[in-house]
Amino acid sequence: KAIKDPLAFKVFNINENVKLKKISETAKKIIQIIQENQEVSYEDLLSLGFSKRSIKSLLDKGILIPVESSVKIKTPVFKQPKTSDYTPKLLESQMYVYDRFYFKDRLKAYISLLKKYVKTNKSVLIVVPSIAFGNKLYKDLSQKFENVYFYHDGINPKLQFEIFKEITKNPSIVIGTVSSLLIPIKDLNLIILEQEHSSAYKVLRSPRFETKRVLYYIHKEKNIPIILTSSILSIESYLINVPNLKKDKDVIKSYVEINPFKSTNKTLIKLQSSISEKGRTLILTNKSYYSGFIYCPRCGWEAVCPTCDVPLKTYIQNSIKIFRCPSCKKRFEYFKACPECDFKLKETGFGKEFVFELLKKSEKLRKLLDSNKIVVESCLKDILQFESFDMVINLYPDFILDLPDYRANEKFLRSVIYPLTVAKDSYIIFSNKLESWLAENIWTKSYDVNQTLENFYKKEIDYRKKNKLPPFLKLVRFKIVFKPNQKEYVEKVLKEISSLKVYSFFQKPNSFNYYFEYKSEKEKQMIKALAEKLLKKGLDVIIEVDPKSF
Ligand SMILES: [Zn+2]
Ligand SMILES: [Zn+2]
Repeated sequence: KAIKDPLAFKVFNINENVKLKKISETAKKIIQIIQENQEVSYEDLLSLGFSKRSIKSLLDKGILIPVESSVKIKTPVFKQPKTSDYTPKLLESQMYVYDRFYFKDRLKAYISLLKKYVKTNKSVLIVVPSIAFGNKLYKDLSQKFENVYFYHDGINPKLQFEIFKEITKNPSIVIGTVSSLLIPIKDLNLIILEQEHSSAYKVLRSPRFETKRVLYYIHKEKNIPIILTSSILSIESYLINVPNLKKDKDVIKSYVEINPFKSTNKTLIKLQSSISEKGRTLILTNKSYYSGFIYCPRCGWEAVCPTCDVPLKTYIQNSIKIFRCPSCKKRFEYFKACPECDFKLKETGFGKEFVFELLKKSEKLRKLLDSNKIVVESCLKDILQFESFDMVINLYPDFILDLPDYRANEKFLRSVIYPLTVAKDSYIIFSNKLESWLAENIWTKSYDVNQTLENFYKKEIDYRKKNKLPPFLKLVRFKIVFKPNQKEYVEKVLKEISSLKVYSFFQKPNSFNYYFEYKSEKEKQMIKALAEKLLKKGLDVIIEVDPKSF
């Protein structure tokens, strides 16, 4: 239908020569929106609720002139509606999700919530994914509230104990990394898990635990509300059937533009013309190295780590190039010629360090780098949520789709959509796959971010269900390390759980690595019971529920 409509994807100019007489309120609104925003498209107007008839009538009167949009996808800047996510009452004791897109809006909601809890002398714990993020949040909240504490493992034990004493005695606002979950905070009445999608919440050092699971048990035992929050919820959190505290839609504030990625040199030319000297620009490269793959175009030789057998990456160290193994981090001397045939080696795949060097080639961009007006990052670190940039540029996230990872689609979506949260004016993506990926997966007119995400979740959940992938495939990794004389015993006791389905299995002379599929809590308990038995015998056992890779 949209393709047949001659106005599809057109944007409008206002004909200044036509006098505006006797026009309706609706027509006035349309004109005002076009005057106040740039490049307002036909689809934008429709999505704002204006009818085709009212748009056409303005065209017939010659007031609007349709023109081709200068970019492929653009959205005008609309004013953010007032959010009314919270009722004045304290929250009922249940689990919630909260996916307000901009962190600054979430922060506002937290503050209004905190005020209510402070008034009633209750404690609130905000769990954060990193110390850097916690420090920023502490700085912000401690200016607005008394009795704010930041508890984490990076502070000295004496101070840590002081904080511990304080928050177990008096109602307070506690910001904490995952270790704060183990503290019996005085009158704790609410826990907020900020950035719930973060991988930091799957704690891999001992004691290993999954934060969201622990939160669920705290909720059950203490009968207090828990909020899982993120700009983009993880698939797992989207799937749990709990109320969302978000009451109205998010409105994207920035222009979005998709450019094809042809070559790094062509990209440099484009960057030179689009980056403004006035504002601040964030460039995301999706990788940190200089180049990701080194090979000989003549004989096919590849630079790989002799110990790990994985491709080496090039990094720059003290302004000279080195090879480094991404797995064991060992460094090697850099060389330009193929060790087999002496031909000149080629490097492909670029990251943050390469982009630095690339930008320095331009006089204008080098100056902006030096004055910190251009920031280059390999990914959108969580602390960047406290900042905003006039322009955000995302360089070539396409490779994520090629990763052998069942979450590739989810990762790609996050790497493309998440940077919008810090883009004030414009967001430019250099990608060859994004447009067709969007069209195939989740296309929505006007870049409605809530609808886009909703469509994505539905499609992705469908895909994972069909292909039996997590969270519809439940796995436990069970690794047993033994001495040669214990092998027979291990094999014998493993028969106790032989009813469990083995998803995959790897064996080494001194270890078994099982991936068991479990269908019920009971089956999981069987693995646990066996692990305890083995531990008592002095064997080394590692259990990982829902492992990240398998
Ligand atoms: Zn060669
Ligand atoms: Zn290595």
